Amino acid sequence: MRSGEYFPSPEVEKPEPIKLKGIDFDIEDIERAWERDRPLQLSISFPREKCNLNCVYCFTDAYREKTQQSVDVAKSVELLEEAKNLGITNLLLAGHGEPFSNKEIWPLLEKARELDLHVTVFTNGALLNATAIEKLREYPVSFVVKVNSFDPEKENRISGVKKYAEKRDEAIRAMIDAGFNKPDKNGFTRMGVSIMVYKDNADDAGEVIDWALERRILPMVSGTALTGKAVKHLDILGNQEDLKAAFRSVEERVHMRSPELHKQLFTPRSGQVVFNTLTVFVEYPSGSVISNVVQRQNIGHVKETLSAIWERNEKEREKQIEMSRDRINALR
Ligand code: SF4
Repeated sequence: MRSGEYFPSPEVEKPEPIKLKGIDFDIEDIERAWERDRPLQLSISFPREKCNLNCVYCFTDAYREKTQQSVDVAKSVELLEEAKNLGITNLLLAGHGEPFSNKEIWPLLEKARELDLHVTVFTNGALLNATAIEKLREYPVSFVVKVNSFDPEKENRISGVKKYAEKRDEAIRAMIDAGFNKPDKNGFTRMGVSIMVYKDNADDAGEVIDWALERRILPMVSGTALTGKAVKHLDILGNQEDLKAAFRSVEERVHMRSPELHKQLFTPRSGQVVFNTLTVFVEYPSGSVISNVVQRQNIGHVKETLSAIWERNEKEREKQIEMSRDRINALR
């Protein structure tokens, strides 16, 4: 039996639409930030080597130099102060390595709590036991947990680590028990799952989506990128055609359930607009500030002030804002 079937029964009557704090933003806040030309989000990338998994599709190999160095905590804590003064409301810890492999995460969370900054953490969940989650309940934190499948054998194989799925599932149970999937007074929940679709997990992804929706957990679906380590594992992941077919099959399944739901899950969310137009990205261990995680243009260093870097990048931002206006209109 798959581990997902053991989880607590759904209690929510109307599971959609789901708004996840730190992934969904109020449109008015985005437009106000555009008008004031002030960022809304600071993204800090932890060093890649600080990860407890060894996923066969890990894209970070394509970008990063090998290092065992860490985040500069003192500098990052200072950055949070500056971010708050600039009008930033959200700290994003995503995309490189496992944030909870870094003991530096705790002073950052502490400072974010003190400054009333919301923190969105993408995590594989395996390092979070029930005690840590109980503690985190009191922090302004949302989690997006990696779930590609509830089949432990499959998940452990793709993550490259024995017993990963079992540990991750314990964390998910603890998050649900702690109420991370319950909406706050503004309708925002604090729990999502990120699902990477590849050749062999289209059906699993469909099950994870259904499971998540029944519990008011936001399912975030993406296709596997054949970059970094992934190119060496096409036997497991599939080629471009296999990946397209798998993703299409997940989309079709959701569309059959409801076209409205399909639109909700497969239209870029407001957080994507914040990511493209209102986010300052800091990468460790280098301390480089980059304009955008896709273009990776180096625009400064944490030795400078965030506002100086922000102003320097004005032209690129204007272009991105123009490109994002239609997206915002579609989300109204
Ligand atoms: S994909 Fe993420 S969780 Fe997996 S090895 Fe890479 S950094 Fe770690």
